Amino acid sequence: MAKQIQAIRGMNDILPTQSPLWQKLEAVLRDTVAAYGYSEIRTPIVESTDLFKRSIGEVTDIVEKEMYTFADRNGDLLTLRPEGTASTVRAGNEHGLLYNQEQRLWYMGPMFRHERPQKGRYRQFNQFGVEVYGIASADIDAEVLMMSHRLWQKLGIGEHVKLELNTLGDAQERAAYRDALVAFLEQHKERLDEDSQRRMYSNPLRVLDSKNPDVQALLGDAPALMDYLGEETRGHFAHLCELLEAVGIQYEINPRLVRGLDYYNRTVFEWVTDSLGAQGTVLAGGRYDGLVGQLGGKDTPAVGFAMGLERIVLMLETLELTDDVPGTVDVYVTAMGDDCRVAAIKVAQQLREVDGLRVMSHCGGGNFKKQMKRADKSGAKLAIVIGETELANGQVALKYLREEKEQELVAQDSLAAYVAELI
Ligand code: ATP
Ligand code: MG
Repeated sequence: MAKQIQAIRGMNDILPTQSPLWQKLEAVLRDTVAAYGYSEIRTPIVESTDLFKRSIGEVTDIVEKEMYTFADRNGDLLTLRPEGTASTVRAGNEHGLLYNQEQRLWYMGPMFRHERPQKGRYRQFNQFGVEVYGIASADIDAEVLMMSHRLWQKLGIGEHVKLELNTLGDAQERAAYRDALVAFLEQHKERLDEDSQRRMYSNPLRVLDSKNPDVQALLGDAPALMDYLGEETRGHFAHLCELLEAVGIQYEINPRLVRGLDYYNRTVFEWVTDSLGAQGTVLAGGRYDGLVGQLGGKDTPAVGFAMGLERIVLMLETLELTDDVPGTVDVYVTAMGDDCRVAAIKVAQQLREVDGLRVMSHCGGGNFKKQMKRADKSGAKLAIVIGETELANGQVALKYLREEKEQELVAQDSLAAYVAELI
């Protein structure tokens, strides 16, 4: 036999048994953003490499080592998008959506990062995100957090996630802090690992995000960014905290939270869970007031978040919250004998007129036992059986597959209305 070709490592198939859960999650996401009046944006999966270098930052994990970059046939450097914000800003600038306008947008789709695959971390993964432009005040920061909070409630995982919040200040405040932090890190250079030593000059704030416990221990004594923030930044942050309290959203201020992308300023946040082991961040985002200008547009305040769908699916599975995910078939229609086949096909077609009813028609013949086996396997609640007698009488037999209920005879003419009542 020929050797089978396998999928690329870290790039997953979503199989028919898994897709109902994905569809349910996607439907909850769409309904939630709709309830807030957000509009969908869809951007290409491939963009110029420069877009991500200029936005995410040269000295970040993503740009340094995670991007899928290749030369197009004509030599242009292209990259499979590793995240959605840069593309959204690029599209917004290109189509004049951001110029003196407010936009509340959302997107959903695959992202690509060449990381070491493990549970909750893949090379192709899906993100759902929202991006809001043109609003500087903290009420919109609160809105996107309220939206994410509502998502957890709708998905039934509110008890298993918590919100961590921080503010990074504006560029000037960060520059002053950066000097103080570098001075501190220089004094303790020998206690830093290789990665942190390298980042100390290129991107010192990223050292705060180090996963190395020794580095984290050292950082306990490092200067705190909060102490370098001006009145306006503090006021913005305090207002956000007030709003969250007013709507009953609990949070924890984490002064080490810096995020792995360079474009953030002021508010940053992560929703984290301990149900997933190491890959505990399920949603992350913040304010990025500088990015629109940095990518050639007019300076525009912006705030957004991205959520990793695989991690949410894993959570729903781990917490066994998959019971109410619907199957794909409600009614399975069978025919006993060739004479009944045409009638069965017609009955199935009639039933599909019922709004939302999912009807599978048995194909390929076979005896009663075989057809009933298929009916059961389909997950349908009802089976329709048409045999010679039913055919002669203009009726069908209706069998309840998941309930202890007697079979019924129903006239073909009134079947659709009858089934519509049952399901
Ligand atoms: P991490 O610290 O886990 O690497 P990140 O800071 O790189 O996350 P973001 O770029 O902020 O992540 O992406 C937002 C969300 O997308 C993450 O919180 C996570 O849920 C999800 N995500 C990021 N990278 C991956 C990946 N390789 N596989 C699956 N999900 C991912
Ligand atoms: Mg990462």
